[in-house]
Amino acid sequence: MLKIKVANIPEEGLEYLLSDDGSRLLEILPDKEKIDFTIQRVEISCFARKVGSMIPLQVKAETKVGLECGRCLEVVTYPVKMAFACSLTPVGAGIGAEDSADVGEDLNMGSYQDDVIDLAPLVLEQIVLQIPIKPLCREDCKGLCPRCGANLNETTCDCETEAVDQRFAILKKFKVLR
Ligand SMILES: [Zn+2]
Ligand SMILES: [Zn+2]
Repeated sequence: MLKIKVANIPEEGLEYLLSDDGSRLLEILPDKEKIDFTIQRVEISCFARKVGSMIPLQVKAETKVGLECGRCLEVVTYPVKMAFACSLTPVGAGIGAEDSADVGEDLNMGSYQDDVIDLAPLVLEQIVLQIPIKPLCREDCKGLCPRCGANLNETTCDCETEAVDQRFAILKKFKVLR
């Protein structure tokens, strides 16, 4: 559970240590079939204060995400760390033009509902932002042989040279046919 009851937050602030399974975070995402990564256990430390009904948060979190290497399809694990601040107001309370001028435009604003702060969507957003678009298990990953599918990081295959130079591949095919 990554939730904090607003009623329990003291005005002077309190540090909350929370953790949850990453799979619970993934449940929030709308397009489940498009999810191509896993999230390991998420550890969060969150300093929460109370200013009227506004809850300013300073959040630090870390976890690891698992992704398929874009070349060899092996699972790669990336550490993800984040530190961000935001301020949450009750849903529907809205912030008048004057108030928002006070807090500054660059401040991360959000909302909470039913007297509960849920850190899961905030942290998930940061995790998703840090996921590499083209993950590689290593810079020089050799990938899979396009012909036989062998993982060329672990093994070599007989068709390796043919895959590199297509002219030879065609020649060999011709010989076989003859
Ligand atoms: Zn790879
Ligand atoms: Zn091969």
